[in-house]
Amino acid sequence: MLSKIKDESKCWWCNSSEYALSGEHKIKKTDIEQLFGKGDEFKEQKFIKVVGNGILKGQIQSPSSNILKFNKKLCSNCNGSRSQQMDRSYEKFMNYYNENKEKIKTSKIFDLGEIYESRFNESYLNLKRYFIKHICCKIVDDLNLLPPLNLINFLNGKEELKDVKIIFNIKPYAFSVKDPFTTPYISSLDILKEEDNTIAIIMGWFTVNQLSINYIIEKNINCDLVDGKIIDVGVFDYKGLKHWNEIIDSSKKPEINFKLISDLFENYPFNQEKNKLEKALKMYKHLKYQ
Ligand SMILES: [Zn+2]
Repeated sequence: MLSKIKDESKCWWCNSSEYALSGEHKIKKTDIEQLFGKGDEFKEQKFIKVVGNGILKGQIQSPSSNILKFNKKLCSNCNGSRSQQMDRSYEKFMNYYNENKEKIKTSKIFDLGEIYESRFNESYLNLKRYFIKHICCKIVDDLNLLPPLNLINFLNGKEELKDVKIIFNIKPYAFSVKDPFTTPYISSLDILKEEDNTIAIIMGWFTVNQLSINYIIEKNINCDLVDGKIIDVGVFDYKGLKHWNEIIDSSKKPEINFKLISDLFENYPFNQEKNKLEKALKMYKHLKYQ
């Protein structure tokens, strides 16, 4: 499914070295600014730390800092004008989410018509392309492999998306605990291999403002289950979880809380043990969300 990167000087998307390579934001700059402010407001923030793959704002001078970006493996043309529409669709989607978070938590749906009005078909395609661009950057960065061809062809508008399933979840822990748990989070990649050691499945996610975009990459996994304009959203229920009282105890240091929270709600989204990855994956696969 994936081949090795042969030439580090070439962009993973267009396979050219015509333009300088640049680093895509791991979490979009507009999300970082929405969470932590811009300019001086950003600099005044106190919680400044990067923990593993999760990002708790810290030791970062501006939302453009390299620490918030993937390595430079995408050319400035692909990262700029070529993906502008994708970026716009994602920004619109997140703006809508941020303004309607409580409503979405209750209704458990995204109504694409409300977000994009009459252009929802095209905009939704571009939204998915934004996610695929992020996923490709993650594969290239973490695994040093080229993304599957279907993902590139989908970005290029040459093929339907076949090899990725995207699932939305709201993780409403930050509705219950104190700041700074608006912290964005990026998972590491979980990988399942065939007997011959080739990669069969890759799974990961990122979380912004308690909305997780989960993805599974597997040959022909995708089936478009969006019903007209409606996307279903899962909402985690944390009641009864071990450590819950400890987590919502605001007297704990934020770093301790962050560790507990990221372990429980981010690293093991279904509260699975580490060695039960297959079970967690099975649950992901059978969720009906697109
Ligand atoms: Zn390029």
